[in-house]
Amino acid sequence: MAETTLERAVLDAVPKGLFVAGEWRDSEGAGVLAVEDPATGEVLVEVADGSADDAMDALGAAVQAQSLWAATAPRKRGEILRRTYEALTEQADELALLMTLEMGKTVAESRGEIAYAADFFRWFAEEAVRIHGRYMANTSGEGRIITMRQPVGPCVLITPWNFPMAMGARKIAPALAAGCTMVVKPARQTPLSMLALARVLEQAGLPAGVLNVITTSQSGAVMEPLIRDRRTRKLSFTGSTEVGRTLIEQAADQVLRVSMELGGNAPFLVFADADLDAAVEGAMLAKMRNVGEACTAANRFHVAAEVAEEFADRLAARMAALKVGRGTEADTDVGPLIDEAQRAKVSELVGEARARGARVVAGGEAIAGRGYFFAPTVLADVPEGARVFDEEIFGPVAPVASFSTEREAIEAANRTVYGLVAYVYTRDLDRALRVVEGIEAGMVGLNQGLVSNPAAPFGGVKQSGFGREGGFEGIGEYLETKYVAVATPPAQSASD
Ligand code: NAP
Repeated sequence: MAETTLERAVLDAVPKGLFVAGEWRDSEGAGVLAVEDPATGEVLVEVADGSADDAMDALGAAVQAQSLWAATAPRKRGEILRRTYEALTEQADELALLMTLEMGKTVAESRGEIAYAADFFRWFAEEAVRIHGRYMANTSGEGRIITMRQPVGPCVLITPWNFPMAMGARKIAPALAAGCTMVVKPARQTPLSMLALARVLEQAGLPAGVLNVITTSQSGAVMEPLIRDRRTRKLSFTGSTEVGRTLIEQAADQVLRVSMELGGNAPFLVFADADLDAAVEGAMLAKMRNVGEACTAANRFHVAAEVAEEFADRLAARMAALKVGRGTEADTDVGPLIDEAQRAKVSELVGEARARGARVVAGGEAIAGRGYFFAPTVLADVPEGARVFDEEIFGPVAPVASFSTEREAIEAANRTVYGLVAYVYTRDLDRALRVVEGIEAGMVGLNQGLVSNPAAPFGGVKQSGFGREGGFEGIGEYLETKYVAVATPPAQSASD
């Protein structure tokens, strides 16, 4: 294995056990789960393979810790979050290398994710002390209305492999700020970043049992009992729409509060009046961030017919110039896909589009050899009905089609069951407002190719899910509102 001493040191430093009730421990049956380097296909390390019993222990610990954590002063909760932000920032280099080893993206991108994840802890450190209700007179003048916001209770949090730390941070930070305890389950391909985050939180002074982490190869069997358990009060899931649908069904049992951050199929619209340099730049960011393995990735490019060919050619030139390689190499621009199944799916979508007449302007193929690499690809003249337009690609492939009118562009953008994000490039303010209002998505990037921001509410509509992470809204996912009707004597007159 072409592994450096630094890489080995970073891997050795991560805890490999389950984190339950403040203890790092083996799984009940001492089973292990191998973590692979997607750039080589080789096993990096093994971590504990948790069972359903381990997960129940974790839920028990979260339930036990709930009342004490809810009663912990908001300022104290906030300070633990703030220390976590600081520790993540200080350890960013090691954590970024660890993330690249298990997930594949370049170290520079991993560093960006660590900064993004850390910022959720900073943002929610500030939100922890701003949880408030209201006091108001009843409309009749008699009686008062008091509202208060209280932690929802023990949460089950399930996260995907594509952003191994940030997707957890977006849930863990607001849940902690709100006063909730939790069981977190990262994806089996990328458990290391979550284990490292748990260690940071432990060292920041988080009391035992507040955060519990279960790694497992049997996510369905291990998590379903927790979702169906009466003591669980909230499920927050980030992942595919397919799995999300199953979990919503399971959550119905206990009428659980649910947040769902699911798949996307983001349209990227370029109007003829757009600044084409900015559009190509934004396209590179929206398409290539995270090797295209992002729910926010631009999945399809709809470009005004007048500029479609020029846009595709310029995008192709940029894509073809990218260096594909192991994410740990300094000159790499694009790392591997997460595994062979993901790469096979990308190949299949590209093959189907080509068979329907799409023209390859850059890339177009998987790269032979070790690891799961795929050449950055641009497809032009992609016909309507191609699967690459309907399905989430999750890879470095940009299909381009043209439109003639604004109405056609909006219709094309909305022709999907998803509704997470859309990107719009135009310099015409009136048009920008019309298009932004007409698009069915939870988020829009207007003349910019990146929307993720801890201070903004992230989330989707339609089959991209419900609930918001980040912003002022983010903490609300972990709070219940209680209203108290207060009787008061009839109002006295001023002369009394
Ligand atoms: P996934 O297959 O749905 O898995 C997501 C998580 O759910 C993983 O931890 C997985 O564990 C777990 N899981 C799978 N089946 C489960 C079950 N029956 N019960 C409980 N847990 C289960 O998605 P993925 O392939 O990891 O992630 C890619 C997807 O996530 C894409 O669709 C992407 O758009 C979406 N995503 C959405 C957002 C957003 O904010 N909207 C952000 C990032 C990603 P194992 O893998 O260990 O089985």
